[in-house]
Amino acid sequence: MKMTLAEIAGVLKTNVPAGSDSYAVTGVSFDSRSLKPGDLFIPLQGARDGHDFIEVAAKNGAVASLCASDKFDEVHADIPLMVVDDPLTALQDLARYYLLLKVNPKVVAITGSNGKTTTKDMVASILAKQYHVVKTHDNFNNEIGVPMTILSMETNTEVLVVEMGMDRPGQLKFLSGIAEPDVAVITMIGEAHIEFFKTRDKIADAKMEITDGLKEDGLFIYNGDEPLLRDRAKNVDQAQKTFGLGPENDLYAKHIVTHQTNTEFDLSRWPDLHFDIPVMGEYNVTNALAAILVGRRFHIKPEDIQDALQHFALTNNRTQWIQGDSGEEILSDVYNSNPTALAAVLDDFSTFPTKGRRIAVLGDMLELGDASAKLHAGIASALDPAQVEEIYLYGDEIKALADALADKYPADKLHYFPFGAQQELTVKLRDDVRSDDLVLMKGSHGMHLENVLAALQEAD
Ligand code: ATP
Ligand code: MG
Repeated sequence: MKMTLAEIAGVLKTNVPAGSDSYAVTGVSFDSRSLKPGDLFIPLQGARDGHDFIEVAAKNGAVASLCASDKFDEVHADIPLMVVDDPLTALQDLARYYLLLKVNPKVVAITGSNGKTTTKDMVASILAKQYHVVKTHDNFNNEIGVPMTILSMETNTEVLVVEMGMDRPGQLKFLSGIAEPDVAVITMIGEAHIEFFKTRDKIADAKMEITDGLKEDGLFIYNGDEPLLRDRAKNVDQAQKTFGLGPENDLYAKHIVTHQTNTEFDLSRWPDLHFDIPVMGEYNVTNALAAILVGRRFHIKPEDIQDALQHFALTNNRTQWIQGDSGEEILSDVYNSNPTALAAVLDDFSTFPTKGRRIAVLGDMLELGDASAKLHAGIASALDPAQVEEIYLYGDEIKALADALADKYPADKLHYFPFGAQQELTVKLRDDVRSDDLVLMKGSHGMHLENVLAALQEAD
């Protein structure tokens, strides 16, 4: 990025202190610690007020800083200050200007309850076969992350692949309005944030807002296995393509074979091409289908798509295989859990070959509101004692699942521990696990199953 203070001031409808008009800005930062010389500092309100860090930002090489008009009297710094009503709004305005008038790439926007980051990484890997691509760094998918992603683009960027998160109505409408995507993708509808939204219908309504900013000649790609999306897509004027596992979709997968660290499948088209992706789980096949449709929109050759998917790099693989101290293999996903994702991973886990037993260690899925007990109990249908022999449940919410499993599982195979009894769980589990067992550990981050995982890795 390269813009002068005068140009930025013009966009933000503010003034530049005398003499600094021609100063060049080469990036933006809202964190004085990671700021690079040449950056414009944007003081945001986080746990602390960014205005308290303008001086540090100046010392670290900031060219200039924005400053909220009501903070101007309190701030003392040796760099030019540009006064705006609200620095966050200014960041978003600047991003919009930079996107449309300085770079003007094609934009692919991706949302969904699960699978956003994975699909983003797959799409970027496919499009990189032919274009200069910039993708969302890490998980920066909100009102701050999306503009920061936009402003991180070099001017020769041809396609921007941007992840959009949402936890309330109106958020995606706003983000989609900033980015005006050429392609909008919804991976799936789950139950994330149902505590707030109450129903999956309302979640679907909010996800559909990603199409609000979709260009007139844009393409809407969505999971056609989800009736809530099929219904709502009828109200979208733009072109559409669906993906999923059902044959009614424009693109669907066949012959899916899941392995511990990779997944193979064929497509409803291109019968000569066999796909093998380096991630686990049938759900990742649907993420790949979405990415393939995006790739075709950009005319990437089928063989190139196949190759890109075989080698794509995942931003953060939250699902990991880890070796326990007894030699057992542990499939760990201890940082996030929700009903759809848990049912999906149990489906795959239940079929992984093992000489020993399959053991599931599950913690509460948090933030499910009034539906919590029902959604926890619903996981029972994904558990079968013939496949997952031994169950450990930890937390107060997941008691509902313990109750739901009581008829299905013998008492000595079903172990329930209320919140606070993590130590007891750990001791019992360590005692129980043997070298040839496969263990799945999954729970919301607040349950801190990572402590149990660490204990399983420690030597006796
Ligand atoms: P976040 O909201 O935290 O940004 P995300 O939507 O970006 O999440 P990913 O990081 O791609 O999602 O995947 C997170 C987890 O969600 C995975 O480890 C897996 O358990 C689950 N998951 C991913 N894709 C799907 C899918 N299509 N359907 C169901 N579950 C999925
Ligand atoms: Mg993400």
